[in-house]
Amino acid sequence: MKYVAVAMALGLLTMTGCQTSPFQKSDDPPVELLDDKTSGEIQVREPGLIPAMAQHRTLAGLLRTSFSDPRLAQLFGRYATYVGGSPYASPAILALIWQAEAQGVWSVKGGMHQLAQTIAGLAQARGATFHYNTPATRITRQNGRINGVQTATGHFPADMVLFNGDPRALETGLLGDGAKDAVQTQHTTPRSLSAFVHAFAAVPEGVALKHHTVFFGHDPKAEFKALAKGEMPTDATLYLCAQDHGAVAPDALQRFEIIMNGPPVPRDPEKEKPPCQTQIFNRLRAFGLTFSPTPGPDALTTPQGFDALFPASLGSLYGRSPHGMMAAFKRPTARTPVPGLYLCGGGAHPGAGVPMATLSGAHAAAAIMTDHASTLMSPQTATRGGTLTGSARTGRKRSLS
Ligand SMILES: Cc1cc2nc3c(=O)[nH]c(=O)nc-3n(C[C@H](O)[C@H](O)[C@H](O)COP(=O)(O)OP(=O)(O)OC[C@H]3O[C@@H](n4cnc5c(N)ncnc54)[C@H](O)[C@@H]3O)c2cc1C
Repeated sequence: MKYVAVAMALGLLTMTGCQTSPFQKSDDPPVELLDDKTSGEIQVREPGLIPAMAQHRTLAGLLRTSFSDPRLAQLFGRYATYVGGSPYASPAILALIWQAEAQGVWSVKGGMHQLAQTIAGLAQARGATFHYNTPATRITRQNGRINGVQTATGHFPADMVLFNGDPRALETGLLGDGAKDAVQTQHTTPRSLSAFVHAFAAVPEGVALKHHTVFFGHDPKAEFKALAKGEMPTDATLYLCAQDHGAVAPDALQRFEIIMNGPPVPRDPEKEKPPCQTQIFNRLRAFGLTFSPTPGPDALTTPQGFDALFPASLGSLYGRSPHGMMAAFKRPTARTPVPGLYLCGGGAHPGAGVPMATLSGAHAAAAIMTDHASTLMSPQTATRGGTLTGSARTGRKRSLS
């Protein structure tokens, strides 16, 4: 019998002395979540503690009572977009994000891709094989249990499959009927925000940029109202990352990323790209910032582009929307109701972002190790790949992993 406390940054808050924190310190984990495999739901062990943590208010509501200057409320409200939400609909518990960020911001030596390469190297050293540029078209099932993955190059038999794509791909049947039961609509819908993202190299001029610079729009309410209606905002806040900041001369050719929040719907990129680019570069010009050369349409990835990169995601970069007080509890967990099928990644628990997606991988690994051991011990599953009866796991409370 094993319980795992919710892995979010709950332990990081409170001691900072922030008067506006809606949380209180507890020596015990404030809430333990149990993943009920039969229903696919996360159950809260101590629901009475939720009001102390979340206070049933939105992040914007918390900020309204925390700051008299609306610009500060706007600044801190942006943290909801870290997980693809609007501050006007996301719970106040997202204040945890800046509490965590106040501990320090981390980057990966050699760039983000180095993380993937290091993990791949570790896996290869332990016998893993990678098949790159090989879309998985179907997760196959036999006698109720997962038995492999189909790709264009063939069928790969497997007792256990860990799916790292958007869980909505399973729910919508993109990976076949065998995996459809793994995820319910409520685990993936409503969708989080998408984005219009420029990635380019240019010489900047006019503004002394930091590594991270945010150019705020005038009216955050209008921006998030437009997004809620599925529209591209016309006066959006822009996040600019100067990736080579500090490593090259300020007037040298260097790499940039500009992110503008977008709605999570597939759209016609041909119609969207010109107004998006005009808006962004006019706006930066108004702040005194120009780029030489000015990035063209090829530098821009739209929500539809992200939908193509992350199949069935609708371009939502963070999986299910964080809107609503109980949103975090609705994410799918590592175990699914389909025997042998597991989830990890930004669409699963605990959520999007590299640290959280990595945690979800740790949860999935723990679940697979536990289930594998129990499968081997179970007389009913002595024939590997055979039908797994409920009794092999019945009565065991599930962890999040
Ligand atoms: C513009 C942008 C900026 C971001 N900035 C940050 C940041 O600063 N900090 C941070 O922590 N996070 C950031 N994130 C979020 C972070 O990138 C994601 O949360 C994280 O990459 C999720 O990891 P993942 O492994 O779940 O998914 P991914 O990294 O998306 O990996 C999943 C992979 O699975 C592949 N795949 C899906 N379906 C199939 C299939 N059927 N067959 C084969 N392959 C398939 C996809 O092509 C993809 O390569 C950012 C995201 C974006 C888009």
